[in-house]
Amino acid sequence: MPSAVEHRAAPDGTELVDRHWAVAGGAPWARLLIVHGLAKHSGRYEHVGDQFAGAGIDTVFGVILGTGVGGGIAIRGQILVGANAIAGEWGHNPLPWPTPDEIPGPPCYCGRSGCIESFLSGPGLAADHFRHCRESLSAPQIALTAESGDPHCRATLARYMDRLARGLASVINLIDPGVIVLGGGLSAISMLYEQVPRFWSRYIFSDRVVTPLLPPVHGDSSGVRGAAWLWRPEEEP
Ligand SMILES: [Zn+2]
Repeated sequence: MPSAVEHRAAPDGTELVDRHWAVAGGAPWARLLIVHGLAKHSGRYEHVGDQFAGAGIDTVFGVILGTGVGGGIAIRGQILVGANAIAGEWGHNPLPWPTPDEIPGPPCYCGRSGCIESFLSGPGLAADHFRHCRESLSAPQIALTAESGDPHCRATLARYMDRLARGLASVINLIDPGVIVLGGGLSAISMLYEQVPRFWSRYIFSDRVVTPLLPPVHGDSSGVRGAAWLWRPEEEP
């Protein structure tokens, strides 16, 4: 893992994980960064475990929404690696339940079209806004402008949240994690945590959905903290 030394010093957790993703193509240690950085090392996993222990919560799905989109799964504190070392790889599945105007979807660097990442990454959000409004705004600008009440940016964010809800609903239908933790630059959009669970209930095969959607305790730096943990495994609680 020689490149992790370079990335450990990166000041921005999102960038760190995204660069890992680009370099490593989803290697297991990249997911270590995501799941441990967002969920376990941050304390969120333990907190949630304490809070919901009586309900048997032991599975965490960690998501990075940044310049790229990635995911990882932890079960009882252990990273699920998988036979092909791609467990939790999520960003290059097709966007679930696509509407007619989402087919075939934007082209993705992986060679396919309509990948979750091509809709839910920061550049994907900006591109969607441009397709609908012919207005070039970055993802943070769209979020800020939506907060100020701009109807076009609010509509763009509504599309984004419905897509995120669909992407996460497919995860819930498959592994039904006890908690989903977001990270990356777009995890700073506070309305995601209230609105996305409202959107996702229509896609989840259950009448009652209790899955919490939570921000990283340490914000965007959680990936860095995860990296620090990775290099000091003796500190593993
Ligand atoms: Zn792709």
